[in-house]
Amino acid sequence: MCSKVILFIADGMADRPVKELGWKTPLEVANKPRLNQMAATGISGIIDPIAPGIPPGSDTSTFALLGYDPIKVYAGRGALEAMGIGLDVKPGDVAFRCNFATVDEHMTVLDRRAGRIANEDASGLSTTLQKIKLVEFPRTRFTFKNAVQHRAALVLHGAGLSSAVSDSDPESVGKRVLEVEPLERTKAAKQTAHLVNTLAHEFHKALKKDEVNVERIKRKLPPANVVLFRGAGTVPLVSSLQDRFGIKPACIAAVSLIRGVSKVVGMDLIDVKGATGTPQTDYMAKARAAARALSKYDFVLLHVKATDVASHDGNAKLKIDVIEKIDKMMGYLLDTVDMESVYIAITADHTTSLLTRNHEGDVVPVAIAGPEVRRDDVTEFNERTCAKGGLHRLRGFDLMSILMGLIGKTKKFGS
Ligand code: ZN
Ligand code: ZN
Repeated sequence: MCSKVILFIADGMADRPVKELGWKTPLEVANKPRLNQMAATGISGIIDPIAPGIPPGSDTSTFALLGYDPIKVYAGRGALEAMGIGLDVKPGDVAFRCNFATVDEHMTVLDRRAGRIANEDASGLSTTLQKIKLVEFPRTRFTFKNAVQHRAALVLHGAGLSSAVSDSDPESVGKRVLEVEPLERTKAAKQTAHLVNTLAHEFHKALKKDEVNVERIKRKLPPANVVLFRGAGTVPLVSSLQDRFGIKPACIAAVSLIRGVSKVVGMDLIDVKGATGTPQTDYMAKARAAARALSKYDFVLLHVKATDVASHDGNAKLKIDVIEKIDKMMGYLLDTVDMESVYIAITADHTTSLLTRNHEGDVVPVAIAGPEVRRDDVTEFNERTCAKGGLHRLRGFDLMSILMGLIGKTKKFGS
């Protein structure tokens, strides 16, 4: 029989003991019988997503959990975001994460999110910007697209580009928009910096007089009169999951960064109605989509962002609530899929601390359930209990080999 895998990543679900929870973690406090069932019927362990003590980004850690060495493959966030919102990024292209923002006449940032501009307004402005011609750079084209609210992405296409350039985003209100500088003494870096500065200037000119902004000012809303650029990146050159393991993989995730990583490694993206990447997402619709996807795919990555959001907001109650919703998703999966041929793994891409409100380099718990795992004595799924499990302590990029080994997709090393 052909076995399949669901890898469930709950973003930032792991945490440190919290004083207001009696020095327990949200996972230890939450009511989560089905996650506990994963541990009780499976094999557990702990993972260093990148390396001990190193706080992971969601992008680098997701690469690792999909079996790639993040140190080797990571080439910046810009291209991943751009691919995640559906832009085409080819080898040689350079992509940026962008924000629509509000500046005063001295280019001082008044609002980094232009009042969290509505999607319709941002979309109207993007159409204007896409029409701008790069007269000075006949060999280069650009694609600009808005994502959710103030977020957008820019891709530069052409020869002689470099991602070794600085950001124009000063990352805080009250500071002036920065000139983009080359970070290397190469012609490509110099040219790219000059190109981005020219675009920034042209964008600003066009945005100031755009009808959408005239209307926004009338409605007493901050005009989106500037675009800030950051995180220049290129697309990592990696062999796909199909090539490495001979599997057909799919991803169910709403956030563009995770969608971008998944696309880079050759996964199909499954869109789910109501999946938003926020705590208000349609959790069960995602679980149903994952179970359904097994009819067509061998490997399904199921990603939920809300646990990370709750920790960044320092909201313990919300984090516990999200974990309990994740538990219901897991319940649905365990009841629906054929556990005699499907392996399910649950883990987090990193610890996001409710106290520091940031990603931390602590280990994260993992449990794998399925027909032929060597069941251990762990009966609860949390940071402390999983540390006693049979998988012991893994590097992030070892998890995929273990999962692929269970379904017979790894190759023998030696004879
Ligand atoms: Zn994350
Ligand atoms: Zn985060």
